[in-house]
Amino acid sequence: ALGLSACGGGGAGSPAAGASSGASSAAPADVTVGVAMPTQTSQRWIDDGNNVKAGLEKLGYKVDLQYANDDIPTQASQITSFINNGDKVLIIASIDGTALSSQLADAAAAGIKVISYDRLIRNSPNVDFYVSFDNYKVGVQQGTSLLTGLGILNADGSKNAAATGPFNVELFAGSLDDNNATFFYNGAMDTLKPYIDSGVIKIPSGQTKIEQIATQQWKTDVAQKRMDTLLTSSDANVTLNGVLSPADIVSRGIITSLANAGYGQGSKKFPIVTGQDADIDNVKLINDGQQYSTIFKDTRKLADEAIKVTGDYLSGKEPEANNTKDYNNGTKVVPSYLLESTVVTKDNIKSVLVDSGYYTQAQVDKGQ
Ligand code: BGC
Repeated sequence: ALGLSACGGGGAGSPAAGASSGASSAAPADVTVGVAMPTQTSQRWIDDGNNVKAGLEKLGYKVDLQYANDDIPTQASQITSFINNGDKVLIIASIDGTALSSQLADAAAAGIKVISYDRLIRNSPNVDFYVSFDNYKVGVQQGTSLLTGLGILNADGSKNAAATGPFNVELFAGSLDDNNATFFYNGAMDTLKPYIDSGVIKIPSGQTKIEQIATQQWKTDVAQKRMDTLLTSSDANVTLNGVLSPADIVSRGIITSLANAGYGQGSKKFPIVTGQDADIDNVKLINDGQQYSTIFKDTRKLADEAIKVTGDYLSGKEPEANNTKDYNNGTKVVPSYLLESTVVTKDNIKSVLVDSGYYTQAQVDKGQ
């Protein structure tokens, strides 16, 4: 259930005295919120879109929800349509965080509030608020779970002195045009670097820079191809022990490639593969032992937060931030509300994902 009670107070539809936006005097049924999501290739964005739409509609607003198929011009033109249609608030999960400046200038000129959703929109002063997770910490959790999976760290976070390695690990990062990718990378690399420096972890390909390991548009097949290439070149004669993956959608490509190369058969154990999003396919892969971990970010809570901020703007209130320092978009520090994420491995699928009602046990068992 969506926590809509948080939108109370002024009441999203009540005429708010002293409101700065003309939108606030309109009845909810006359207000449309434009919601731009990047793609439907990953379950999380479908859930995000549905949750935001349902929650806003419950408050009486109209919602125009659009997916852009990971195509940057498509997303730009969707946002232009929102503006031309008179939408009052825009909620945007950008594809290329630097590509929307001119659209956002138009939005600002029309008095439209812009909420950057999950991914920070960069190089524009016309971003009013950011709702997301603590993305650096997500990266730390990915790096830490890789270390735990390899046995370099014990379950309680202490060092396992007996695990001297060397462990062969390859690194993958996200899409360079997504601000989050750098945050995930920095968090993970700050965590792994001491072990790479000391030789406990070896990177057979030698590729550690974000430009070398990035996955264009987070595409599964791009990751699969890079893993294929590694497995027939630098990694051809080594046994891989781990792969740092920034997201489940990327992990799926990596795992397909590893399976095709014979990992998971006979004595050739699957490497420790990380992820993010708790996509249902990957939760199944974790349950089956092909993926080690994912980072669960409760998209219901993120949607709730976006709905709350929208309600605040439409009733003329300033939304409440819990971070006003970490997300500088190149033009200004964008006031942010950041949520917490949780590491999920086979051991806590039930307690974290099933008991919270995110998935049913049947979905976990079937992987759909
Ligand atoms: C999101 C991740 C997601 C990735 C690929 C990132 O911006 O924060 O949750 O896995 O995009 O869609």
